[in-house]
Amino acid sequence: MKAAFYRGNKTFTIEAPPEQPVNADDVKIEVAYCGICGTDMHVYHGVMDERITHNRVIGHEMSGRILEVGTNVNDLKAGDPVVVRPLVACGECAACKNGYSHVCKQLTFLGLDSHGAFKRLHY
Ligand SMILES: [Zn+2]
Ligand SMILES: [Zn+2]
Repeated sequence: MKAAFYRGNKTFTIEAPPEQPVNADDVKIEVAYCGICGTDMHVYHGVMDERITHNRVIGHEMSGRILEVGTNVNDLKAGDPVVVRPLVACGECAACKNGYSHVCKQLTFLGLDSHGAFKRLHY
C-alpha cells in the first residue's frame, strides 16, 4: 500500500508508509479510493503548513476494506467494506448536542490534526 506524503512547497511523494501495529480499538483499512477535497488543496497551496507538519500522509476522505481489527473490535471483521468519516467531534458542545457535529467548536480532522484514533459512528 502506498500513500501521498506532503513534503511542503507544493510537493508530494508517493511512498509506502512504515508498518504500524493495529492498536486494540483500531482497524487497519486497505484503501480502495481516496478523494482530494478542498482541504487537501489548501494543504497543497501551503496555507495549512502551521496546522500540519511536513512528511504527513494527506488524504482523509476514503473508502476501502478492513484488513485487520484490534483485539477490542467485535463489530467489524476483515473484508468488511467501510467509509471513513474523518471528522472527530467532541460530542459535548452545543453544536454537537443539537445534531450539528460537523460544526463542532473542537472539530478535528483525521489525517490533519491526528493520525488515527477517532470515534466510530454507526448509521
Ligand atoms: Zn475533506
Ligand atoms: Zn462538539
